Amino acid sequence: MTETTDLSKTAAFIALEDEAGAHNYQPLDVVIERAEGVWVWDVDGNKYLDCLAAYSAVNQGHCHPRIVEALVAQSRRVALVSRAFRNDQLGPFYQELKRLTGFDRVLPMNTGAEAVETAIKVARKWAYKVKGVAEDEAEILVFSDNFHGRTTTIVGFSTEEQYRDGFGPFTPGFTVLPYGDANTVARAMHANVAAILVKPIQGEAGIIVPPEGFLRRLRQIATEHNALLLLDEIQSGLGRTGKMWAYEHEGIRPDVLIMGKALSGGLYPVSAIVADEEVMSVFHPGDHGSTYGGNPVAAAVGRAALKALVEEGMVENSARLGAYLLERLRAIDSPHVAEVRGRGLWIGIELVPAAGGARRFCEALQDLGVLCKETHDHVIRVAPPLTITRDEVDWAVERIERVLTS
Ligand SMILES: *Cc1c(COP(=O)(O)O)cnc(C)c1O
Repeated sequence: MTETTDLSKTAAFIALEDEAGAHNYQPLDVVIERAEGVWVWDVDGNKYLDCLAAYSAVNQGHCHPRIVEALVAQSRRVALVSRAFRNDQLGPFYQELKRLTGFDRVLPMNTGAEAVETAIKVARKWAYKVKGVAEDEAEILVFSDNFHGRTTTIVGFSTEEQYRDGFGPFTPGFTVLPYGDANTVARAMHANVAAILVKPIQGEAGIIVPPEGFLRRLRQIATEHNALLLLDEIQSGLGRTGKMWAYEHEGIRPDVLIMGKALSGGLYPVSAIVADEEVMSVFHPGDHGSTYGGNPVAAAVGRAALKALVEEGMVENSARLGAYLLERLRAIDSPHVAEVRGRGLWIGIELVPAAGGARRFCEALQDLGVLCKETHDHVIRVAPPLTITRDEVDWAVERIERVLTS
């Protein structure tokens, strides 16, 4: 797909970006101008299958017509009133999210990082007001190789050196434990632990699936020690793993569920936490908020995004085609591959050290019309929109196989 006659358009847009933008990303050299479903087109007319889906924000497929319609229609009616006034989209959005999750109450924000910050605030306040922890003594347990966003508080408990380097001093009150090891968590519990903050699967770390029973043990430990279980399902939730929520795989229920990304299907930044009354009731007017959080467009887009996901069977498709994709990828006989793992349409192909990193494979895939993004240098992540068809999976696998065996 690179034998295009005019590379200058791509090069020109890249030059514009690089000349005036902060250099805090290193994207693939593809400049996208249009998208539909699982497909995107670049400025030189090349077509690609999107196997990243904006880190699962686009689970419903690009520019899903029903979500676009909700965005446009609501934008024409009323877009923003702030939470100083009420709006007629918010109540219905709350009710639909409540019905979908089974939790009592919703608190809407915009980005994922803000929703994680909200969960941290609610857990701390709950510890002081309900559990009875002494002022400023609350502790939150987190895990190695976590990724929960980029605020100063959140990067403060990252174990990725680059995410922290140069950004201190950091917020105290977090303890990092090894991911996947419930015994260490049990030993680390004490009276001041407000919460355990965890992801059911670690995406950014390379699609790390913890040992079977890990979440169940964490649930047990949190309950025994009267601490909250905060689950960050910003990427794992809303169908990505083949269930609506990844925690369903272990039959548990968190105390606070954190969501974002696909909550808008990629049309708008919409995030939220949901929790039961006992936890959420620690927030009183003025304790927390956001100018854009829960605005009419966000709520209308969120409603349409949830409706599309449920009514069009995307979660079931993720389970079915995810299992098929995993099986097909595992069948590829390549000296470069160490392991293929994942759940639903969320798969990591881990390469052996001698393969020389995942980046060059992602660039080779780009040349064949498949957009993937490496994670942690040596893992190729395959996570297309949940609307992908079996034929499209076959199309992608054929190209992935070609790149991994050449
Ligand atoms: C993307 C992500 C975040 C951060 O969301 P932003 O919208 O980028 O702030 C937090 N946690 C997880 C698990 C994520 O995947």
